[in-house]
Amino acid sequence: MTSDTSKTWRATVLTLFPEMFPGPLGISLAGRALASGVWALEARDIRASAADRHRSVDDTPAGGGPGMVLRADVLAAAIDAADAQDRPKLVMSPRGRPLTQARVAELAAGPGALIVCGRFEGIDQRVIDARALEEVSIGDYVLSGGEIAAMTLIDACVRLLPGVMGKLSSATDESFSDGLLEYPQYTRPQLFEDRQIPDILLSGDHAKVARWRLAEAEALTQSRRPDLWAARPKPPESGKKRKPPKIATDG
Ligand code: SAM
Repeated sequence: MTSDTSKTWRATVLTLFPEMFPGPLGISLAGRALASGVWALEARDIRASAADRHRSVDDTPAGGGPGMVLRADVLAAAIDAADAQDRPKLVMSPRGRPLTQARVAELAAGPGALIVCGRFEGIDQRVIDARALEEVSIGDYVLSGGEIAAMTLIDACVRLLPGVMGKLSSATDESFSDGLLEYPQYTRPQLFEDRQIPDILLSGDHAKVARWRLAEAEALTQSRRPDLWAARPKPPESGKKRKPPKIATDG
């Protein structure tokens, strides 16, 4: 157990479906870290903040149109009751700024997050403005609710918390960490359906392996993600080349 709870990364999720949590966050890496107290999760039912006798949380859109909208008053009460003044307040939304590894790293370095999960047609704009919620998207597609998006964000943060990945995995050597996609990975068997592991990876020459990986990462990024390639950190002016990725020799 982590005894110093002031260091615990805290995720508070506001949802109409608290029973969806921890879900996949309760197993493997994130689940072990949750059980050991590296991070804490509280899934709070938005409906508990509904004030009327029918416990209604939504209403029809002002101006007409299909579906329902989550009410500002109910959601504001749920946010205020969550006691998360010390943490960034996010709302999952396809209209939000796309989530990046850089934003994930910032969030992981902080105390945690309060995360609002939308449903139906979305959320009354006034609560987004009044509680200064940061709108975060996990991609250009529409999910039926914010819960899976919130899990995605939490999972990405939790694996960066100190001690969660262990020394065999390095967050500094994976996709996006250097503005590049990761190089291809291989493992045993050496021969799979007539396909060999590239000889250089079996050479034992760490410098050559690192150069090969960097070249592969650059080629992949250039062809698959021209947007990332254009935005990548440029090598220093002095003519020095980008540093090849470090090689983990222990696994
Ligand atoms: N009417 C909304 C729109 O067109 O932008 C979509 C609402 S969606 C059916 C319901 C909820 O799912 C949203 O309020 C949001 O919380 C969540 N959601 C859907 N797609 C998402 C995405 N790509 N990223 C983050 N959250 C998403």
